[in-house]
Amino acid sequence: MADCLFCRIVKREIPAVIVHETETTLAFRDINPKAPVHVLVIPKEHIDALIRLEKRHAPLLGDIHETIQEVARMEKVDTTGFRVIVNNGPDAGQAVSHLHYHVLGQRHLGWPPG
Ligand code: 5GP
Ligand code: ZN
Repeated sequence: MADCLFCRIVKREIPAVIVHETETTLAFRDINPKAPVHVLVIPKEHIDALIRLEKRHAPLLGDIHETIQEVARMEKVDTTGFRVIVNNGPDAGQAVSHLHYHVLGQRHLGWPPG
């Protein structure tokens, strides 16, 4: 989508600190990190939110999980632990309408989240 912030990052129209890229996914640092490691993993395809996922996206979800694993290894939180969060819709505070997975780590993450 032309006016979507994360689509524009995919197209390199807006700068971001990209940490990993595959044919179908992109991983970049969150501009306002909530933990020492805070990477956003997105599909390159524009999907508004998790609720919009369809059966045909199953291979893409595999790719996203592989990218999350790769980011966890690269950021050295694969053994210490990390959290993956997807905010969906207004009550969850989803601010950017392009599906994204927050990967957070390198600090103790309380549970349940506030
Ligand atoms: P949400 O609240 O939608 O789940 O998360 C959106 C995230 O995108 C927030 O954590 C916010 O800091 C991050 N973000 C917003 N604008 C930008 C940007 O221009 N660049 C990057 N790298 N992150 C952004
Ligand atoms: Zn988009």
